Amino acid sequence: MVSDLKIVFHYKCNKDAKNTIFAFLTEKNSYQMNSKFEVVIIGGSNAGLSAAMALGRALRKVLVIDNGRPCNRQTPHSHNFLSRDGVTPEFLSTVAKEQVLAYPTIKWMQDTVNEVKLNESGFSLHTTGGFQIEAKKVLLATGVVDEMLPIFGFAECWGKSVLHCPYCHGYEVRNENLAVLANGEIGFEFVKLIRQWTPNVQLLTNGEPALKEEQLEILKKAGIPIVSTPIQSILHQEGYLQHIQLVDNSLISLKAVFARAPMHQSPLVIQLGLQVSEQGFIAVNAFQESSVPGVFAAGDCTTPMRTISTAVAQGTMAGAAINSFLLEW
Ligand SMILES: Cc1cc2nc3c(=O)[nH]c(=O)nc-3n(C[C@H](O)[C@H](O)[C@H](O)COP(=O)(O)OP(=O)(O)OC[C@H]3O[C@@H](n4cnc5c(N)ncnc54)[C@H](O)[C@@H]3O)c2cc1C
Repeated sequence: MVSDLKIVFHYKCNKDAKNTIFAFLTEKNSYQMNSKFEVVIIGGSNAGLSAAMALGRALRKVLVIDNGRPCNRQTPHSHNFLSRDGVTPEFLSTVAKEQVLAYPTIKWMQDTVNEVKLNESGFSLHTTGGFQIEAKKVLLATGVVDEMLPIFGFAECWGKSVLHCPYCHGYEVRNENLAVLANGEIGFEFVKLIRQWTPNVQLLTNGEPALKEEQLEILKKAGIPIVSTPIQSILHQEGYLQHIQLVDNSLISLKAVFARAPMHQSPLVIQLGLQVSEQGFIAVNAFQESSVPGVFAAGDCTTPMRTISTAVAQGTMAGAAINSFLLEW
């Protein structure tokens, strides 16, 4: 029975909890205490809201819990999402949220889920704001957290001139002086990709190149310089790169650098014991269901193909799949 899903409030008398409850109850779509939910979606960005839309249109009672830290929040313009090319990430999320929350069975809560446990009727969730929520199905749309490299200026330039994806931001820096900051197999493949956008690209290995002889030969033939001197800092103005300063104080003038930052998953993935791929993404089947029955996952937390269109498509799939798993005679 879906009716056995319930939300239980545990109000802790602390400032954070008060703020959370205030934000929660003043939301346009604030819900009544003791409302019952069929699905809780953790993460209300591209994947989560897309799933919520499918579920809202299927009349499902859903709570979306989000703590407001989408991975693309620092990028000034979002590209390569059909019909919304070049808009700000804020614009996209504002319109998405407005359209999704227009469905009356979808509710929104600004908070952080810090615990998800299996129970006899489904799942029990806890938030840092002091709420305890029960749900039949859970969707993780938690994205991933990009870890900033310990190079002065890297974090400030992330999403503006230190870029992760040429499909999202390569066109805007086409034919400019670019570099790839990576080493080994990843660096070799990444620089090959970036050459599609400019002939003026160099490989910054930030230390001894970990490249095979034949790779070094290919790069030499292609006229791609390899800079192995370690980087001291990325000199920039408000996130827009001007120079890379090496430890020997020499400067390289560049428009942008493509880099792969390491990433980590939400701690909920380990807590729930979800199976992950070799690259660390949540393993899901064609219905976006994880290795733990009843726990679904969509968006960046499941795939290295990190684009809004992929997250939205997976969210739609997860929403439809969850709806069919909840069907009963
Ligand atoms: C710098 C940068 C620029 C990008 N530019 C583009 C672009 O131009 N075009 C494009 O197509 N793609 C772009 N991308 C990729 C795109 O942003 C992602 O693929 C997309 O946002 C993934 O959506 P998601 O919903 O899976 O994750 P996210 O958008 O990262 O959202 C995850 C959400 O879950 C929330 N959350 C996480 N854990 C919890 C928790 N425990 N409790 C509550 N909430 C939680 C977070 O606060 C966040 O709101 C960019 C990515 C980066 C890093």
